[in-house]
Amino acid sequence: MKEHSHSIEAWDKDAADALYGVSKWGAGYFAIGDNGNLCVTPDIEKPHMQIDFASVISDIQQANIQFPVVVRFHDVLRAQVVHLNKAFNKCIQEANYQGQYRGVYPVKVNQMREVVEEIVDAGKEYHYGLEAGSKAELITILAYNTTPEALTVLNGYKDEEFVNLAFLAQKLGRKVLIVVEKFSEIATIIKIANELGEMPMIGLRAKMSVKGRGKWEGSGGDRAKFGLTISEIINAGKTLADAGMGESLKLLHFHIGSQLTDIRAVKEAINEGALIYAELRHLGFNLEYVDIGGGLGIDYDGTKSTNDSSRNYSIEEYVADVVYGMQEVCDLEKVPHPTLVSESGRAITAHHSCVITEIMGEIRPDSAQADLTIGHEEHVILTNMRELSENIELATNLQEVFNDASQYKEQANDAFKFRVIGLTELAQVETLYWQIMQKLQLRYAGEEFVPEEIQALEFNLSSQYLCNFSVFQSAADTWAIDQILPVMPLTRLNEAPTVNCSLVDITCDSDGKIDQFAVGREISNVLPMHPLIPNEKYHLGLFLTGAYQDVMGDMHNLFGRLNEVHIFSYDDDPQDFYIEEVVHGSSVENVLSVMQYNPHSMAIDVKRLIDKRVVEGVMKPREGVRWTDFYEDCLKGYTYLKTQ
Ligand SMILES: *Cc1c(COP(=O)(O)O)cnc(C)c1O
Repeated sequence: MKEHSHSIEAWDKDAADALYGVSKWGAGYFAIGDNGNLCVTPDIEKPHMQIDFASVISDIQQANIQFPVVVRFHDVLRAQVVHLNKAFNKCIQEANYQGQYRGVYPVKVNQMREVVEEIVDAGKEYHYGLEAGSKAELITILAYNTTPEALTVLNGYKDEEFVNLAFLAQKLGRKVLIVVEKFSEIATIIKIANELGEMPMIGLRAKMSVKGRGKWEGSGGDRAKFGLTISEIINAGKTLADAGMGESLKLLHFHIGSQLTDIRAVKEAINEGALIYAELRHLGFNLEYVDIGGGLGIDYDGTKSTNDSSRNYSIEEYVADVVYGMQEVCDLEKVPHPTLVSESGRAITAHHSCVITEIMGEIRPDSAQADLTIGHEEHVILTNMRELSENIELATNLQEVFNDASQYKEQANDAFKFRVIGLTELAQVETLYWQIMQKLQLRYAGEEFVPEEIQALEFNLSSQYLCNFSVFQSAADTWAIDQILPVMPLTRLNEAPTVNCSLVDITCDSDGKIDQFAVGREISNVLPMHPLIPNEKYHLGLFLTGAYQDVMGDMHNLFGRLNEVHIFSYDDDPQDFYIEEVVHGSSVENVLSVMQYNPHSMAIDVKRLIDKRVVEGVMKPREGVRWTDFYEDCLKGYTYLKTQ
């Protein structure tokens, strides 16, 4: 657990930046303004253009859109597409690399229509293509017009229907690469190619011996789920050649995992992949492409390290290792430089969206204080606890105080179960216990050695801020794989955050919480926030949610999809922006329909029950109408808490 390095008096926006790491994870898009509000610079090439989150919030409120809200900055999405493509093109030119770059966006990372459309549009001038990993994704991307030179890469396990769809895409004029993930798919492709009399373009996915590092390291290595072993690759080449389709073999593919934290894994993979490519070339197959998969990481925790939620390299360093690494092996092996394909999804989409929610209140373990006046026949457990609390200033062995207090609390719980003490006395014991814990924490402050139990007290005594959102819908990876996402207040950043708290959501699930934060340069289970001011809204932002989080959430507790606003910046006014589109989140009706209910007939059923009460005279007719309308309004309403 960390100490704040800035004293409260010296607090300023730089201190806030250091604490929340904005300039580290923000990648130039996010910064704290002089007014203490977070702002976004949607196009790094136009740094004068800054959108204040306070204005975004006020526009959302004025448009009567309820929180929580997903905010998408389309300019950021476009800027990331340009950034990646320019980085490859620049490096290829500098290295005098003979191949080209033809990236594809893997739609699984965020399949939202507006996201895919924006990426396709921004990528046109770079012939940026699309990647699909399932039939439904292929059906989706078939409808998009990428440029004729752009690639359409098909990964994932394939049945005949999938392969037929691939041929349809080819007939529509696309450059389709069918990547074989499993040896038996070769036979399917050959069969359908013969039936249709078409020559496909085929890729082989290699099972790599190098493993990525981080959460996804199982994507590489011998137990990887996808890909062909070296002997299968050679067999695949032979099988295709025997079928007269040797020329169809165009691409070598590998993907050693998402969010690669260590650049060394990238280098090793490029080296291994380049050698396999060169070998296939030596065997007489005229491969044109090497597809290096995804894995380009995001610095979620702002440490630029090999932490699971970080990465120790920049986009430029990644690109240089790919280009120079491939060039070196190809030159040594005297084979042509292949066209480089990459499938970066996370790096393209993570920054462009965030979730804004409101804090609904504070939960404290010691919030309720029992009346501590001594009753006439006080039980000895309570007396012990009271004396412990009163004498704590004199105590020399603090560990003993902690042990005793914990023991009395347990005894009190048992005594209550056996009806030896009543609820009032139990409440008094509880109140005293938390008072003792607070005093202990104060006495340990500044000590060098703090026992583990006392360290844990900081967390146990910290507040929980209740946030109007569901972790399972909006930040699935924080729950599923302990992913760290940047979380911070959007305003008051020139004011010292004096409340250490963790965050809890509004689901009934005790896993519905966030208690891992990047604070300063460390991972902490509390986040410093500002004290809540009565009758004043306090908004929280959850950042870098554009990759996976946006689309992987579920409807736990029937909390549905969020309202969305899509924001564009104005070129002529640096302060200004406009909400281009509002996408309404799920209504209660929507989520019920997904679960097979029929909201229309439910409304009729409830109306019937209400009418019955009216007939019975239990409810006035006017009242009946009101309740009927109310139920119907709720069905049409948002699934989250109403705050305005
Ligand atoms: C998931 C996946 C990607 C995307 O990876 P990122 O790390 O998000 O860039 C690319 N290729 C394949 C085969 C994938 O499975």
